[in-house]
Amino acid sequence: MPLPLIHHPGYTIVLPPRHPFPMAKFRVLRDILAAEETGMGAEWITPQPASEASLARIHTPEYLRAFLGGSMSEATQRRSGFRWSEALVERTLLEVGGTLTTVEAALDTGLACNTAGGTHHAHADAASGYCLINDLAVAAAHALTHGWVDRILIVDLDVHQGDGTARLFRHDQRVFTFSMHGAANFPARKQHSDLDIALPRGTDDAAYLHQLTTSLPPLLVQFAPDLVLYDAGVDVHADDRLGHLALTDNGLFARDHYVLSICREAHIPVAAVIGGGYDRDLEALAQRHARLHRAASQLV
Ligand SMILES: [Zn+2]
Repeated sequence: MPLPLIHHPGYTIVLPPRHPFPMAKFRVLRDILAAEETGMGAEWITPQPASEASLARIHTPEYLRAFLGGSMSEATQRRSGFRWSEALVERTLLEVGGTLTTVEAALDTGLACNTAGGTHHAHADAASGYCLINDLAVAAAHALTHGWVDRILIVDLDVHQGDGTARLFRHDQRVFTFSMHGAANFPARKQHSDLDIALPRGTDDAAYLHQLTTSLPPLLVQFAPDLVLYDAGVDVHADDRLGHLALTDNGLFARDHYVLSICREAHIPVAAVIGGGYDRDLEALAQRHARLHRAASQLV
């Protein structure tokens, strides 16, 4: 069966020169995947923008009015990491729509991957750290509201804690938030996930994989999710500009392959998003992200 890969050319917009967010990585990632076997054997799906109604399940009316209508304060824009523009709103809605489509495709086929997504720092009423709308939360709420699933496990392996997602679902028993992240990294003020594992600086492949392989299997058994949302941030890589951990290329692949395969073996659908990754070398960065899709293509 072909692997559903979700992509929209609108994931990438033009940012001011020297902006620290690697906006072009989505396009470079798409080009890498399309040029190789992983992409050729895939079913490419172009998502629609997320509807305002789907965002409203998670975000407050005041925040959505400011974000969609262009009245975000200077302070809010600074905290988001972006200057507001109509193009920014359009790309954000496409990215969230992409994660919604990824969830639908995963529920249909068992496994699907977005080529963007993982905006886990966004809160109900606030943007933070390059995250304007929390796509993981919007997608989880969407699947629950439609009655497609009853229990969702969010496996957030981005190097930064999934603070927005943790806070949004702290009182919701239907969503279990698991975040494994760098202890010394952003956000300075962590929230309480249902399970947090904070890793010391310099954590290498062996220590990382040990934590993961001892933490994840019990969750699949005890919480028994009927959907996993996987944030496969590559900012755990040794060469990441913001990371402080020390995973190698092989370690990254082993991590992604492990998460996807253990869910596949348990017959739990997985919708994966790429999460964070920061490197001025966009080709190297997109190659890191492509490991997720390569691992997935081996498992369909
Ligand atoms: Zn991150």
